[in-house]
Amino acid sequence: MSDVIAAAPLVRIRALRKSFADHLVLGGIDFDVAPSQVVVVIGPSGSGKSTFLRCCNGLEVPESGSVEICGRMLVNNGQRLPEAELDLLRQEVGMVFQSFNLFPHLSVLGNISLGPRKLRGLSRVDADNEALALLKKVGLVEKAYAMPASLSGGQKQRVAIARALAMKPRVMLFDEPTSALDPELVGEVLQVMKLLASEGMTMMVVTHEMDFAREVGDVVVVMDGGVIIESGPPETIFTNPVEDRTRLFLQAVLTRA
Ligand code: ADP
Ligand code: MG
Repeated sequence: MSDVIAAAPLVRIRALRKSFADHLVLGGIDFDVAPSQVVVVIGPSGSGKSTFLRCCNGLEVPESGSVEICGRMLVNNGQRLPEAELDLLRQEVGMVFQSFNLFPHLSVLGNISLGPRKLRGLSRVDADNEALALLKKVGLVEKAYAMPASLSGGQKQRVAIARALAMKPRVMLFDEPTSALDPELVGEVLQVMKLLASEGMTMMVVTHEMDFAREVGDVVVVMDGGVIIESGPPETIFTNPVEDRTRLFLQAVLTRA
């Protein structure tokens, strides 16, 4: 008997199906994410990547299948947790979107400390101290009292990452976090994501940044037409994919770069 016990998956997805009206968007997804794993999700536009991530934090309710986070069922066959429990479980799942979504009327510090004050019950002082530590991590302490409108896109996205981290999530979901950025600002955001990965954060990342996928990804998942057509370590997916569709997609993305 092996004395190696595999860690239980942090995210466990089974037979996930989702339609919008009569349009099947996710056609049965099975996938596990292990603790500290970095999963990079790639695939053509419209293949269901965002819907997949949104099902993983309960923003979308699949019509069948299940999503389990940290051993707790978030959604199960079209039923999701009662709203109060869902909110608690959502705190375990941080999400960063392409379009930052900062609160425009709050300072950077206010954006980060609001959630911990309201949902984790921290005092203002404690929440601000934690927020400052997170700003240090993303390299923006000097912007603590700035308003979001005065920041560059890369700075805004780093604040959005700090805000998500402030809830102390067990897993972070990133949906094309650098796609809205000018090219020269992409690196500073990827750098923060690399740091999180190196600290052992469990991450699911939808991105077209193939260098990031190669360097930081443990597993690359290729989606097309609402299903995972293949998945594997980056070196396999990038150099020797099984599926022609993967090859074509990679050619298209890499020649665009
Ligand atoms: P990707 O992120 O890979 O580009 P999405 O998950 O955003 O793909 O979308 C997959 C498909 O689902 C697309 O055809 C999109 O038009 C459709 N879709 C996504 N969200 C909605 C929605 N809220 N209502 C209707 N159709 C949607
Ligand atoms: Mg998308």
